[in-house]
Amino acid sequence: MSTPDVSPQLRLAVLTLFPEMFSAITQWGVTGRAFESGLCQLHLQDPREEAADRHGTVDDRPYGGGPGMVMQAPILAAALAKARAVAGENAKVVAMSPQGTPLDAALVRSLASEDALVLVAGRYEGIDERFVTRHVDLEVSVGDYVVSGGELPAMMLIDALVRWLPGALGHEASAAEDSFSEGLLDCPHYTRPETYEGLTVPSVLLSGHHGEIAGWRRAQSLRRTLDRRPDLITMEGLSEADRALLDKWDLLQK
Ligand code: SAH
Repeated sequence: MSTPDVSPQLRLAVLTLFPEMFSAITQWGVTGRAFESGLCQLHLQDPREEAADRHGTVDDRPYGGGPGMVMQAPILAAALAKARAVAGENAKVVAMSPQGTPLDAALVRSLASEDALVLVAGRYEGIDERFVTRHVDLEVSVGDYVVSGGELPAMMLIDALVRWLPGALGHEASAAEDSFSEGLLDCPHYTRPETYEGLTVPSVLLSGHHGEIAGWRRAQSLRRTLDRRPDLITMEGLSEADRALLDKWDLLQK
């Protein structure tokens, strides 16, 4: 597995009306440690600071009528200028949007190789299109459904990015072994006890034979991916070696 081309330090900023939500990634687990140890930096910029009135207004009614409110372009632009001052003037601007490019492993890895990113979390009906036209480099979607704000999508993206930063997962685990890193789903995992409700651990995993174990794991990954995600691989597309591996572990047929 090749080592991805990732920046040693990633500077992230997010434009968000709800900065407190981001404690979900700054305080816990793998991402919490990455921020604490300085592997990456997170700056939260609240567009509310740019509001011109004392009510902190950042949105207005849509031209042409219709439900909901729209985030105003000049307010977001002012917040972006502040975020750039922290993250870097050359930061790529990524708006979270259900209309964006679907987030996948390849997109995560390409974004992980940037030095600096500013993510834009929308709220209400979304953001004024002219802000997108003028300032946004890329729109990213977390799936074909709509959630009520860009914060959770932005956190999904940040968590996925941080896993690729060297050192974020520690030496005992590697993002390169997870699902999708090689275009395959991960193999099944087992831990103690050896028997659970009559189900035993596959004996090869107890054999101590690392070559056999690696082969079995790859065969399992191939089989799972063929069964669950025929959009990722097909039997016809497999190498001779992979087909032989499936055959060896009796996984050629579903
Ligand atoms: N009216 C918009 C949805 C607005 S939802 C539309 O139909 O396209 C409010 C905000 O939530 C969006 O601006 C976006 O930042 C975020 N959001 C909602 N669903 C999302 C998704 N699937 N992926 C990424 N961001 C999403």
